[in-house]
Amino acid sequence: MKEFAYERAMDVRDALIAADGGARYLGGGTNLVDLMKEGVEAPTRLVDVRQLPLAGVSEAPDGGLVIGATTTNSDLAAHPEVRRRYPALSQAVLAGASGQLRNMATVGGNLLQRTRCAYFAAQVCNKRVPGTGCPAIAGEHHNHAILGWTRSCVATHPSDMAVAMLAFDAVVRYETLDGPGEIPLAEFYPPVGDTPHRETALPPGALITAVALPSSAVSPRSRYRKVRERASYAFATVSIAAALDLDEGSVRIALGGVASRPWRARTAEAFLLDAPLTAEAFRAAADAELAAAEPLPGNGYKVRLAANLIETVLKELQP
Ligand code: SF4
Repeated sequence: MKEFAYERAMDVRDALIAADGGARYLGGGTNLVDLMKEGVEAPTRLVDVRQLPLAGVSEAPDGGLVIGATTTNSDLAAHPEVRRRYPALSQAVLAGASGQLRNMATVGGNLLQRTRCAYFAAQVCNKRVPGTGCPAIAGEHHNHAILGWTRSCVATHPSDMAVAMLAFDAVVRYETLDGPGEIPLAEFYPPVGDTPHRETALPPGALITAVALPSSAVSPRSRYRKVRERASYAFATVSIAAALDLDEGSVRIALGGVASRPWRARTAEAFLLDAPLTAEAFRAAADAELAAAEPLPGNGYKVRLAANLIETVLKELQP
């Protein structure tokens, strides 16, 4: 590990000033520190943001919730209003990592965690240095993307939490030295295109301060399901956050483990807007969504798995 400076920020402006070009913000460190040990990340300075007054879940004026960026994953999952109004979010967080890691990991850091593609940690590739190739496409890719990928990178995004937040139309709030800003989570992760090294739409030096969940997305009838290679402490093979609004007859669906970013299943949602909420319609909607899938030779099984998950979870959400 290369030498680096360490600074503990006590207010947001101090953190922004301290974060020069080579710096990284340090939350729980559960991904960043690993990447530093592996030589993937080599910041010149760590700006510790854990003492900033950003932790906690509060009511928003619109009736939604605002989740502070340094709220731990454990506290988010256990919050009674999150469990009551957005249960799929609590379930998604609890499906990630281990209890010890959830106690350390923060909401802001969870959004910024980097892919667990094994090549990414072991060698230089397009995601680390543009133009150096993607060994996963011709190599080991059984747990890689089936939707929205390009020849530049076929990695998946590892967050469970972000999948549920996407289904609930979350908005990421941030601060810069030029003032605050916000980005809908649906636009937070750019399409992979030919720039897989560009992983978020945050401006340079921006510090995530909160995630807002709108009241319009309150969905007590929601669920997160995750298929993985072992019963705990594993990243998603395929996951789903789904919510059913019986009054409106609308459905929200987001998938994890299938693309470079959490994947909103807009095609399936649109299909179900004009269809009765029956098992047959759920199946057809899932097939419509997965019609766009482009699996590699080693990960075609994910297509049927994702379709089955959509159908199964929607059936579970029916009264
Ligand atoms: Fe690198 Fe992406 Fe290819 Fe993995 S899939 S080796 S992260 S370019």
